Amino acid sequence: MPLTNAHTHLELGWLNEVCPDENGRDFLPWLIDLTERWNKMAGCYAQVLYHKAVESAIQSLHDAGVTHLTDISATAASMKPLLESGLQGVIYVELLGYHSTEIDRRLNMARYLVNEWRAQERGGMRIGLTLHTPFTVHPALWKRGLEFARAEALPLCIHVAESPAEYDWALHNRGPIADYLNDLMGMPFASPRKTPVQYLEDLGALELKPLLIHGVQVDEEDVKRIAASGSSVVHCPRSNQRLRCGRMPLELYLKHDVPVYLGTDSLASAPSLDIREEVEDAVALHDGIVSRESIEALVNKPLGI
Ligand SMILES: [Zn+2]
Repeated sequence: MPLTNAHTHLELGWLNEVCPDENGRDFLPWLIDLTERWNKMAGCYAQVLYHKAVESAIQSLHDAGVTHLTDISATAASMKPLLESGLQGVIYVELLGYHSTEIDRRLNMARYLVNEWRAQERGGMRIGLTLHTPFTVHPALWKRGLEFARAEALPLCIHVAESPAEYDWALHNRGPIADYLNDLMGMPFASPRKTPVQYLEDLGALELKPLLIHGVQVDEEDVKRIAASGSSVVHCPRSNQRLRCGRMPLELYLKHDVPVYLGTDSLASAPSLDIREEVEDAVALHDGIVSRESIEALVNKPLGI
């Protein structure tokens, strides 16, 4: 039987030191902490950490019987090991950039990695592109990144509607992410004044039927938008709880026939890469709302992307 872990960042295993305990931590301080530690870890030593993390993660995925996964890679460290692993799925090259001045550099790097590794696709493992989140990608980079994905017919992945802070920035231009962008980052772009999902729809991103990660901060209209577009969603309940993001309304996605998968996310926000532990957490989280059978069915299917 297939067993799918639909969202990982294998290269981040060494950042398990920032994984919050069960009391949780607010999303934005966690993201800033993770980013600062990552930026400090430059050079050869970082490459060793990435490769060790990927190697040990692939072993634990094999041990757990996982057959399908999607992974996000900013460094390309997981490309070769995953292409040779026998696992099936997609590795998405990560693209982000807050400022208009860095768009060409960021896009050229992503284009280079996609072209380099796409030529080596094999065994049911493909290369795709991820535009990180609504609040970490400049609108002009959204436009050019989506053009690139469309022109090359690349599988696309996006983190969206994860935290209340993201929702508050996107719809109301208030809250911690609004303060972060407006005060600390010099307001690189304005709040779209729309829900995060509406923003993706207006950017044209949903037309490419992306794999949407999290989708916690949504209302039923957002879920209908996702359903109408033919996009899929990945639910990562343990990460959502530890980053105080709330309960994803899984029942709404199932009601509107959106394809939903489960994913562990990275070891920087989840205590393990064991998708069966994710199932148990989801069963407890949605107790009385979504049945165990419906939740188990989310992992016992191959990726339809
Ligand atoms: Zn993620």
